[in-house]
Amino acid sequence: MATPGSTAQRPPRTDAVLAAPELAEPQRRLGRALVKETVGRVQQRVRSGEVAPDDVVREVVATLPASAASLRPVLNATGVLLHTNLGRAPLSAAAVEALSAAAGTTDVELDLATGARGRRGRDALAALAAAVPDAGGVLAVNNGAAALLLAATALAAGREVVVSRGEMVEIGDGFRLPDLVASTGARLREVGTTNRTAPRDYADALGPETGMVLKVHPSNFVVTGFTAGVEVAGLSRVVDEAAGRLGRRVPVVVDTGSGLLAPHPLLPDEPDAASALRSGADLVTSSGDKLLGGPQAGLLLGRADLVEQLRRHPMARALRVDKLTLAALEATLRGPAPPVRAALEARVEDLRARAQAMASALAAAGVDAAAVPSGAAVGGGGAPGLLLPSAAVSLPAAAAAALRAGSPAVVARVEAGRCLLDLRSLAPEDDEALRRAVLGALAAGADGRA
Ligand SMILES: *Cc1c(COP(=O)(O)O)cnc(C)c1O
Repeated sequence: MATPGSTAQRPPRTDAVLAAPELAEPQRRLGRALVKETVGRVQQRVRSGEVAPDDVVREVVATLPASAASLRPVLNATGVLLHTNLGRAPLSAAAVEALSAAAGTTDVELDLATGARGRRGRDALAALAAAVPDAGGVLAVNNGAAALLLAATALAAGREVVVSRGEMVEIGDGFRLPDLVASTGARLREVGTTNRTAPRDYADALGPETGMVLKVHPSNFVVTGFTAGVEVAGLSRVVDEAAGRLGRRVPVVVDTGSGLLAPHPLLPDEPDAASALRSGADLVTSSGDKLLGGPQAGLLLGRADLVEQLRRHPMARALRVDKLTLAALEATLRGPAPPVRAALEARVEDLRARAQAMASALAAAGVDAAAVPSGAAVGGGGAPGLLLPSAAVSLPAAAAAALRAGSPAVVARVEAGRCLLDLRSLAPEDDEALRRAVLGALAAGADGRA
């Protein structure tokens, strides 16, 4: 046994420890370097007297990392369904399975029937096209920003992008869409004001220099009061009316952000790709890992000739997605509804029952826990200002830090001096893991006992 406080001792040699039979399998699974690092740390603890020399192998086994990658699983009890810091949408089991199947060598760009080169990601793109029949062409790139980057580069580099001043948005972490567009060499032609933009403003800005008209969904804020904007149908009319004098129809590009492909009854103000295209958008861009519930990706949907123009642009190669993304995207589109959908559509009565059951179980174990009403949000990925009725388990505030340090880590919300575990952002399958994580974290010394 380790003898805390004992005097410093000389640790066993590294090769001797690494040769222990108990460390053969970990070295195969994690690699020699990672195991050696752990050995080094344990040897240090022998020198400082914390671990007895005879306990080194046992201590190494106990403190080895669980996997070769250090990203740790987190239970999202924040009540924010799409948390960018937590990796946004959790993938469905079907998507995870698809990822894993595609991880080895796979037919991502090969036609197995003929043995000839195939179109990269054809099945994922076919699934996307099937999900949005209004799109003449579809393309997937690295993320939503990449989709916009490619559109602005291919359609407007060296020319103007006409955009409303009310849509010059910052997404998060200092990332500003106008800066992204400007980085392509396109010039922003701002029209209207922060709160009001009219069709006339767009019409006056259209000229020989216009590369595209951009409409951006303000996905993380709302402007209320004396406001006016121009919907996609209105923009489409403006570019149609200008087509005579310009000799071409300027493309209308709509950045919907969230990745809703069709309208959703619970999100009446959230734009979707099908409606935007039907209203006259020439191209729609969005993310794959927001409300679509899939992997990080940027989706481009719209007029076949424009999508083809983007696909053939040299920059498309630099923004292309890998086989893992294509696999997960296809499974998200074709497979069962992803967790984000289930979370969005969960009935509040069911959330209340889960919170009640969890609070009772925790209270029975001596934890100061109670079920309380809560309000959840879609998150930075969409539906700003929308509060989804939810239910939470309320714990002492001190539990939050202990829960973050646990395994699996739990991220909660601290509100009015309490630590709230909101259950809308957590899959019901994870309730048991959450309950155990709370008991583990509070037993480990946090101040949560009643
Ligand atoms: C999220 C978002 C983006 C950026 O998408 P990423 O996938 O994060 O690159 C762009 N525009 C809007 C409106 C968004 O909401």
